Amino acid sequence: MTLEQLLSEVRQRRLILTWSRRRGLVLWAPNTYVPAATRRAIVAHREELIRLVEASDIRVCPAQDLHREYWIHDGGQHYTCAICARLEPIVRRRSVA
Ligand SMILES: [Zn+2]
Repeated sequence: MTLEQLLSEVRQRRLILTWSRRRGLVLWAPNTYVPAATRRAIVAHREELIRLVEASDIRVCPAQDLHREYWIHDGGQHYTCAICARLEPIVRRRSVA
């Protein structure tokens, strides 16, 4: 599965990705079925996914409908989600606990 195919899956299934120094990339999907192929792809692409999560890239925004009006164009083809940027440190702290 390519990174773009995986990102499409992440959007469709509204999966929440975060990371912590201790645990690395964390998939947060309570009560959500995640196919084994998707889980394997998340592991395979973890370095790119961590970079996207750290940057609050809209491609890993789990609430695209609700957050869309807060997306910021950062030049070129890069868009940041301002809501995810504010939530990410909170989610990251929860993921460490
Ligand atoms: Zn967002």
